[in-house]
Amino acid sequence: MNFNRAVIKVGSALVAPAKNGCSGKYILAIAQFITKCHQQDKEVILVSSGGVAAGRSVIRHGSPELSVSMKKAMSSVGQMKMMANWQRFFDIPCSQILITQDDLEDRERYISIKDTIQIQLENGILPIVNENDTVTTEDLKVGDNDNLSALVAQACEADCLFILSDIDGVFTKDPNIHDDAILIPKIDEITDEIYAMAA
Ligand code: GLU
Repeated sequence: MNFNRAVIKVGSALVAPAKNGCSGKYILAIAQFITKCHQQDKEVILVSSGGVAAGRSVIRHGSPELSVSMKKAMSSVGQMKMMANWQRFFDIPCSQILITQDDLEDRERYISIKDTIQIQLENGILPIVNENDTVTTEDLKVGDNDNLSALVAQACEADCLFILSDIDGVFTKDPNIHDDAILIPKIDEITDEIYAMAA
């Protein structure tokens, strides 16, 4: 494995595959990979989604269309479940880092995040980052955790970013909508043509 410090982003579909609570189904293999990285003296920062999915069963919601407030309420209770789910697969301590767009744009807070993660890595702790859904607004949101993981990778000066999800890779079109979407197994360079495929 050709990296020293990696950010690994794990999507809700892997943390809570049934969308109503956490599971170890996919997390176990990811935790084993992280442990293997640690054994090789590599550093890992995890960006984990799953707060909303893990908290869904505890908040009465009625309709499948969730309001933003509902999602926030689910996320803050699900965050505890998600963290506990990760911790059970590690002997080392995990830390919870909740951040917002504001935090990343403010120089002092940015440095503070960077320093916190640095000290935790030096102490053999696994930092687990998520967006602080309770205080974010639609206008002031990092977006999704794919974006957040890229920003965290920059802040921590990681030399590698893994984005793990239930999608096999980059497709020429959205494979959920287009049957003729084709998987691109490897991209060496982000050309204008590749960029135009992004949705
Ligand atoms: N912060 C959200 C959650 O914990 C995840 C957002 C995302 O996956 O993009 O559910």
